[in-house]
Parts: sequence; structure tokens; C-alpha cells
Amino acid sequence: MSQKHATIIGAGIIGVSTAAFLQRQGFGVTIIDRVPPGEGCSFGNAGGLAFAEITPTVHPRVLMKIPGWLLDPLGPLTIRWSYLPKALPWFLAAGRNALPSRVKAITEARANLAMRVVSDFETLLKSAGASDLLKIQDTLRVYGSEDQFTEEAGERAVKNAHGFETKRLSGDEARELEPALGPNVHCAAFHGGWYFVTSPERVVKSIAAEVTRNGGKIIFDDVTALERQDGKATAITLKGQGRMPVDHLVICAGAYSHLLAKQLGEIFPLEAERGYHMVLPNSGVSLSRSITYARAPGAATPMEMGLRLAGSDEFAGLDAAPNYARADKLWTLFKQVLPGLREPDQATTRWMGRRPGLPNSLPVIGRSKTTSNVWYGFGHGHMGLTWGPTTGRLLGELMTGAASNIDLSPFRADRF
Ligand SMILES: Cc1cc2nc3c(=O)[nH]c(=O)nc-3n(C[C@H](O)[C@H](O)[C@H](O)COP(=O)(O)OP(=O)(O)OC[C@H]3O[C@@H](n4cnc5c(N)ncnc54)[C@H](O)[C@@H]3O)c2cc1C
Repeated sequence: MSQKHATIIGAGIIGVSTAAFLQRQGFGVTIIDRVPPGEGCSFGNAGGLAFAEITPTVHPRVLMKIPGWLLDPLGPLTIRWSYLPKALPWFLAAGRNALPSRVKAITEARANLAMRVVSDFETLLKSAGASDLLKIQDTLRVYGSEDQFTEEAGERAVKNAHGFETKRLSGDEARELEPALGPNVHCAAFHGGWYFVTSPERVVKSIAAEVTRNGGKIIFDDVTALERQDGKATAITLKGQGRMPVDHLVICAGAYSHLLAKQLGEIFPLEAERGYHMVLPNSGVSLSRSITYARAPGAATPMEMGLRLAGSDEFAGLDAAPNYARADKLWTLFKQVLPGLREPDQATTRWMGRRPGLPNSLPVIGRSKTTSNVWYGFGHGHMGLTWGPTTGRLLGELMTGAASNIDLSPFRADRF
């Protein structure tokens, strides 16, 4: 019998992880991307394996904060006003998903997805010979005031109930662990057993290199069209290389996935949640761990290329030009708790990436509802690095009919 083959669109963390796990299930694989592996959204994230972040991105407390954030020049959320009519349905859907019963169900699904994050990650990095990219280091969430700490009590209780315990530290105790933290740090939550990567880009490139060593192919091209006949995808069209027949097709195209799914008659409410980073090779600050600051979502992570400040959420569509002032705002924000942070200099870099965001903070992992040999892995929003390898394993299991360790119904494509 000839070998099963999967064509995977997208060489981000989701696409390369899916390819690697499909190879383990006996598939031949071809990955197609218009940029080299790891140079889409997966390039510039904060590097956190944030498996303890089980509450949805939009939940009642966040919902209440949105108006203030929109007015705050340092605020983590912005909508370009010209884009508001397009983004509005997404926000309305996110609002509906912030109802308590929905939050509970989404939290359960996210907690399930978190269960094997570390082992799936280690599996891929070990075989890629890149385990050194993964650091085990407890994290600190720092607070500027008692009010900030108290506000998050509900989320800490939920984490606690799922086995992700935090310990409160005083400002001085936090400074003892991380001397770079300044006097503005009132207290901190210490999360034990945390992981971060020192180069998200190299994580993806290393897994991609292992896929090719194992016989997989990577094609540098743009997928412009999908062909379908009798409920099955038969071929795709590449801008440069023309028509290419497919056996199984997996769409892991990040924030662009809905454009491809639309060609199969499926509509997904996917939005580009545009995030920014600034990397300071000469930050003047030495951190031994990734830290977050409760004033705004985002993280400061010590990476191999420098200190990376990453965060921000901008709704402006896929194609609007980046507004790097948002990266500068991350500097202003973290300067409040890292007073030794040096001014950006010539070595400083700024970047914008498009998180593939669905309004219920759960990705799509499953079969297309219109096309039986098409599978989806997209919509991981703020958690794609964390959930990437696990998504790959789960797709491998689904595509071979193997049992999975969790209930996959919350991730089905036909939930929309
Ligand atoms: C500032 C910031 C901080 C973040 N921090 C974290 C974090 O700490 N932890 C965490 O877990 N997550 C984090 N994330 C989220 C995470 O980076 C994303 O969820 C993840 O990278 C999405 O991976 P992906 O493979 O779906 O998308 P991508 O990496 O964007 O890959 C999709 C690929 O598909 C390709 N593609 C699309 N359409 C086509 C087409 N038609 N033809 C050919 N190729 C195509 C694109 O070129 C792209 O390379 C962060 C994101 C940002 C922006």
C-alpha cells in the first residue's frame, strides 16, 4: 500500500508540530509556506509555555476593563477606529463567551489542552536536538498595588483548583529573586514549574529541520486556491509552482486560515490580534526568568537575542501597516517595574505579529465539516506556542482514528 500523505499549509509552530507528529503516525508530509519556517506569528512571541493560563482571554473582569484600556495610552488593547465595524461582531461574540457558564466550559477545555503541553514539547525538541531552547524556570507575576493583586483573586482560585498553585511574595521577596525589579513592585505571585523558550523562531526552525531530516518536504510558495470535488479536496494551486494534487490537507495558516476555509464553504470568525515586541540586546537588565506585570497583559523574557518585551493586542485587520509606537509602549510599561531598563538603541528591534484569534479563546482542532480529507489546526490566539506541539499530536491522532487523551468536541470546526 502506498504511504498516506499530508500537505500542510503553514510553517508556524502549529504546522511544523503537526508535520512532526504526522510523520510519527506514518504519513509522508509536505509543508508549504510563503515565508521560511517560524517567520510568521510564531517568530516573535513572548516564549512562555503558558499552560496555566486556562481562563479565556476575554472573561468578565477583562470585559469590564476594555473601555478603560481603549482610553489608556499605555493600554494593552487598541482598535483602529476605521476597523471597528469589521471587528465589532468578533467583540460581540467574545462578550457572549464571557458569560459565566461559557467561561467555565472554555476553562475546562483549555485546562484539558494544557495537560500534556510540556511532554509534547519535550518530545519534539528532544528529537530535533534542540532541548536547550526550553528553560525550566519559575515565573513571577508582579503587581504595582494591593488592588491589582486582589483583582486577580478569582483567576488565581481557578488556577489553584486545576492544580496550578501560586504563592504570594512580598515586593522584597520578589526583588530577592530578581534584583532588577524596582521599588514599584508591591508584591508578586510566584508560579512554580514554569517553562519558557529562549528563541521561539529557532524552536520552529529546529522542528522543521527535523521534519526534513525525516523525509518531509518544505515548499516556499503561496497557496492561492483549493480545489474540491465530491466533498474532498483534490488539489491546491501554488502561486509559483502551479497545481499540486493532495491526499490529506491540513490548514495551519495562522491568522490567514479563514481565507482558505472560506474556499471550502466554511466561515470562521477569525481576527488578527496583532501583537508587538521590542528586543533590547543592551537592556541593562538581567532577568533569570520571564515575568509578567499585572498592569497589562504581556511579558518580559530573557532570550538569546536580548530582553524581549512582548504583548499588546491591536485590531486593525491583516494588512494594515504596523504601528511600532505600540512596541515602544511596552518599554514604557516595563520601565515601571524594571527601572534599570536602558533606552532603546540602534541594536533594538521592533516587530508585529498576527495572532490567530477566535472569540471563544479555543482553537479549531479537527476535521472540516464540508471536506472530508481536510483538517484544521488554527485559532490559537495568545497560546499558540504553548499549545502547538499538543495540537500536532492531537491532529495526528484524529487523522489516524487513534484515541486522544482529552475530549476534543470543544475544538471541533462545526461549533461555529
Ligand atoms: C506579541 C506576542 C506574544 C505572544 N506570546 C505568546 C506566549 O508567550 N506563549 C504562547 O503560547 N503564545 C504566544 N503568542 C501567540 C503565538 O505566537 C501564536 O498563537 C502562534 O505563533 C500561532 O502559530 P501558527 O502556526 O498558528 O501561526 P503562524 O506562526 O503565523 O504560522 C502560519 C503560517 O501560515 C502561512 N500562511 C498563511 N496563509 C498562507 C498561504 N495562503 N500560503 C502559504 N502560507 C500561508 C504564514 O506565512 C505563516 O508563516 C504570542 C503572540 C504575539 C503576537
